[in-house]
Amino acid sequence: MSTATVSDRVFNFSAGPATLPLKVLQEAQENLLCLPGVGASILEISHRSPPFEAIIGSAEADMRKLLNISDDYAVLFLQGGATTQFSMVPLNFLNKEKSADYILQGAWSKKAIGEAKKCGNVNVVWDGSSEKFSRVPTQEEIKPTSGAAYLHMTSNETIEGIEFHYDPNTGNVPLVCDASSDFMHRPLDMKNFSLIYAGAQKNVGPAGSCVVIIRKDLLEQQVAGPHHTMLDYKKMVAGGSMHNTPPVFTIYILSLVMKWLVNDIGGLDKMHELNQKKANLLYDYMDASGGYYKPHAQKGSRSLMNVTWRMRDEDLEKKFIKEAKAARLDGLKGHRDVGGLRASLYNAFPYEGVEALVGFMKEFVKNNG
Ligand SMILES: *Cc1c(COP(=O)(O)O)cnc(C)c1O
Repeated sequence: MSTATVSDRVFNFSAGPATLPLKVLQEAQENLLCLPGVGASILEISHRSPPFEAIIGSAEADMRKLLNISDDYAVLFLQGGATTQFSMVPLNFLNKEKSADYILQGAWSKKAIGEAKKCGNVNVVWDGSSEKFSRVPTQEEIKPTSGAAYLHMTSNETIEGIEFHYDPNTGNVPLVCDASSDFMHRPLDMKNFSLIYAGAQKNVGPAGSCVVIIRKDLLEQQVAGPHHTMLDYKKMVAGGSMHNTPPVFTIYILSLVMKWLVNDIGGLDKMHELNQKKANLLYDYMDASGGYYKPHAQKGSRSLMNVTWRMRDEDLEKKFIKEAKAARLDGLKGHRDVGGLRASLYNAFPYEGVEALVGFMKEFVKNNG
C-alpha cells in the first residue's frame, strides 16, 4: 500500500465534514497508536478513565475560555448531530399548548420547523423564500410572539450561504440558535442566547458530536414529560455528556482544535479577522468580475463561511467545477438542492486556498469569456 503525504492534500472546500487544521491531523496521527503517558490509543481507553476525563475537560475549558461562557451555561457534547437538536429543542420546550417562533431562512431552518411542528404550534415569524433565501431578516423584521416558548434562528444557512452579522434581540423570548456552520468563527456574546447548538463537523472537529450550550435556567421551562433519557437536556446536563459512551474520538479531535484556536490562532478575534480577510478576497473579486461570477447572497447577509455563487449557465458551472478539481480545488459544487457553486471557508481553511481559487477564477474567465 502506498502512503499519501501532506503534499497530496488538495484545497478542500467541502461544506462538511470539512477541512481540519493540518497540525491537528498530524498530532492525532502521531498519537493514534498511543496517547503520551497512557499506553493505549484514544480509541481504546474507557471514557470514564482519567486521561479521557482530562481530554473532555480541556475541550470544555478551552471552549469556555474562547467564547467567554459563564457558569450560567452548561456545555454538552451530544450525539445525533444538529439534526437531533431539531427534535430535542421542541421535545423539551414545546407542546400542543405552546407555540414557538421560527425564522424560515433556508434549507436547514425549514427542516428544524418540520420537526418542531410535530411537537406543537410554530409561528414562522419571517419567511425568506420569496427572495430565494438570499438574505437574513433585519432586526425590525423579527417580531417575537409574546409568550412564545423560544425563537429559533440559524446563524448561518450553509446551503444558501447567508449569515447573521448581528445577534437578534428577542426581548423576553429565549433565543435558540443553530450555529452548526459558523460556530466559533467569531467571538459571541453568550448572554444574547439561551441555547446554541452546532454539529462539530463544519467548524470545530469531525462528525459525531453536536456541541450544545444551554442556559441552566432554561431547563426550568422544560415541558412536562416523560422525556426519553437521551433527549432530555436535564439528564444530559446532570450527566455531563457522559450519560452513555460519548463519541470519544470526535471529542479528542475537537479538544485539539480548541488548542489550535487558543495557541496557534490566538483567539476568536483573530480568527474572525482571518475569516473576513478570506471571504472578502473572494467576494471582492466576484463583485469586480462584471457579473461573470454572481454571488447568491445579498450584501449584508453574505456568509463568511459558505460563499455561494452562480455563473452564466449550468454547463459552464459544470466545466468550472471539473477544471477546478483538476487544479486541486475540490468540493466546489453547490448543494444539490440549489445548484451553482459553493466555497466553504471554515476556520481551518487556509488563506492561500482562497488566493489559489481566485487565481483559477481569473484564468477561467480568460479561457471561457
Ligand atoms: C450541517 C447542518 C445541520 C445538520 O447537521 P448534522 O450534524 O448532519 O445533523 C444542521 N444545521 C446546519 C445549519 C447545518 O449546516
